[in-house]
Amino acid sequence: MEIKNAKYEISSAKVSQCPDSNVPEYAFIGRSNVGKSSLINMLTKSRGLAKTSQKPGKTLLINHFRINNGEFYIVDLPGYGYAARGKAQREEFKEMIESYILYREQMVLLFLLIDIRHEPQKIDLQFLEWLGENGVPFAIVFTKSDKLGPMAAQTKVEHYKKVLLEHWEELPPIFVTSAEKSTGRDDLLDYIERINTE
Ligand code: GDP
Repeated sequence: MEIKNAKYEISSAKVSQCPDSNVPEYAFIGRSNVGKSSLINMLTKSRGLAKTSQKPGKTLLINHFRINNGEFYIVDLPGYGYAARGKAQREEFKEMIESYILYREQMVLLFLLIDIRHEPQKIDLQFLEWLGENGVPFAIVFTKSDKLGPMAAQTKVEHYKKVLLEHWEELPPIFVTSAEKSTGRDDLLDYIERINTE
């Protein structure tokens, strides 16, 4: 699939403010700084669509980007695991994310982003477990693969799979990406196209 156009539509502080339409949504989430904005800009080939390197934790907003005149939305969810957030904001975040992920009927699939360089982190593994418990359809996207050589990247992915298989019977779809080098772009977009036309 090619993205012919991508347009910022709205930032919502509450799920109830999200677009009232039946356009399918593909959501992206991950720890702050995982490279989510960079990935969205890479996928859409729009440099400034999602804002990169914003000071994390300030506002919690769900951003909708309308792709190919309404074929689907890319939804940018707030990053999690930002330590400096206070308890109140962490609660607010939890409530917002849960109500979007569990009850947003338009959401077809959630892409969970993980920085390929890191060892499996507790916060991501816990989040994965929660997705599993709730039957949320998701895929894993490893980011920043250019920061490692291809062999090292592959080793990291294999290690992550092994850790996942300690808890999961089967693996989710896995993508290895680099926003810097546009790695994984075609695979990820083709995957979206496939499920979007099912
Ligand atoms: P977000 O907080 O998850 O939206 O992360 P950003 O997209 O703002 O990226 C966080 C930092 O990682 C920035 O300094 C980016 O330039 C850098 N970054 C993001 N993606 C890549 C990538 O694929 N390769 C490299 N080398 N750096 C990246």
